[in-house]
Amino acid sequence: MQLETISSISTPVGEGAIAIVRLSGETALEVADKLYKGQKPLSERDSHTINYGHIIDPVTGETVEEVMIAVMRAPKTYTREDIVEINCHGGIHTVNRVLQLTLKNGARMAEPGEFTKRAFLNGRIDLSQAEGVMDFIRSKTNEASKVANQQMQGRLKDYVENLRQSILNILAQVEVSIDYPEYDDVEEATTSFLLEEAEKVRKDIQYLLKSSAEGRILREGLSTVIVGKPNVGKSSLLNYLIQDNKAIVTEVAGTTRDVLEEYVNVNGIPLKLVDTAGIRDTDDIVEKIGVERSRKALSGAELILYVLNNNEALSDEDIELLDSIQDKNVIAIVNKLDLESNLDIEALTSRYDMPVVRTSIINSSGVDELENKIAELFFEGNVTSTDSTYLSNNRHISLLEQAASSIEEAVQSAEMEVPIDIVQIDLVKTWELLGEVIGEDVSEQLIDQLFSQFCLGK
Ligand code: GDP
Ligand code: ZN
Repeated sequence: MQLETISSISTPVGEGAIAIVRLSGETALEVADKLYKGQKPLSERDSHTINYGHIIDPVTGETVEEVMIAVMRAPKTYTREDIVEINCHGGIHTVNRVLQLTLKNGARMAEPGEFTKRAFLNGRIDLSQAEGVMDFIRSKTNEASKVANQQMQGRLKDYVENLRQSILNILAQVEVSIDYPEYDDVEEATTSFLLEEAEKVRKDIQYLLKSSAEGRILREGLSTVIVGKPNVGKSSLLNYLIQDNKAIVTEVAGTTRDVLEEYVNVNGIPLKLVDTAGIRDTDDIVEKIGVERSRKALSGAELILYVLNNNEALSDEDIELLDSIQDKNVIAIVNKLDLESNLDIEALTSRYDMPVVRTSIINSSGVDELENKIAELFFEGNVTSTDSTYLSNNRHISLLEQAASSIEEAVQSAEMEVPIDIVQIDLVKTWELLGEVIGEDVSEQLIDQLFSQFCLGK
């Protein structure tokens, strides 16, 4: 099947120094040649060359832009099709004009994610790698992009393929025992082999799932709220976290004007600090955004940093709020340790089952301990993304959860000495579910849905 040649601006939209219009498809060179004027037509150039020239509007003859054009011929390209990249240095208007000219001369506008989709359809990458590309584009911190990167490199694919191979080995043994039902010892050997191997597969899938929770945090950030009464040191803590962890990643406006999300990197964990505007501007999140919304922020938070003043006794308000968030991940921070203690820390720790950290933020003391506590709470103290294969995608997680329960079923049936051909059904099902993770047996609709989530130009 021949796919149409597609075109789009593949650099972020804005006033960047260089913008690239990228074409991919059988007629990419032909389309570009209609607009290009240089020493030689692009179709006569070698693959993987950069060519200087001008883009001319073929209708008016007007020179639109001075360009460098990369020619990359199939199959050694991102999409495995012919690719032409027109590097423009003008602003967004010129780039747009170049794009429009490609569209008027035989290319069609690429859908979001279509370049990567073609890479997948043409067999250059598997589905988990393609999804890695998508996560990579979206990922907000270094750790997160490492995870996405590994997935792009095919780590998950290798892992899943090994699991599938193990299941095939079990199935082969099962096949033998079905073929020779008269030998009891074959059946016994099969059952014990099956139990052992299937259990290994089950454990490996479980491991992958456990690490997925960590992967999700690395990718999306741990949504964190700092709360406490006015004047206890919330702003001071926020500022300290930001300064101490230079990697403030980004600051994005939320759905409403006064909700801000800010990312800081704490021991490699991206904290997504929610509602920092309230903390910064009025020193009172409750006053600023209202009780209802701050309750909501609290209920949506994965981590709550509850700041108290060592100099003041625990108030009824504090007790009420702390009571209401007991089932969440809360770290109590007793701040202003440098001042006289009027807070009964013993009473606090006996009443609440939550880590308590003592700080004197003004003296930069105790915040390290807080940072370590956060890592302990979510990563057993050890954040790494280099030696684990994290799952960072909901579709993968759901498939692996299903695979885990079907292999579990196979193990249980085998233990209960259910006829082996029944066990076989669960094994095959597990094998198929794992296949879906790497894009085997996936319907076209699913593929379209996945790729439409990409940014334009990828
Ligand atoms: P917020 O209202 O909870 O955001 O509190 P701020 O961070 O604005 O701090 C209120 C006041 O307490 C400021 O004057 C800070 O300098 C001061 N403060 C913050 N941390 C400490 C601390 O550890 N010890 C002392 N003595 N003062 C502090
Ligand atoms: Zn404040």
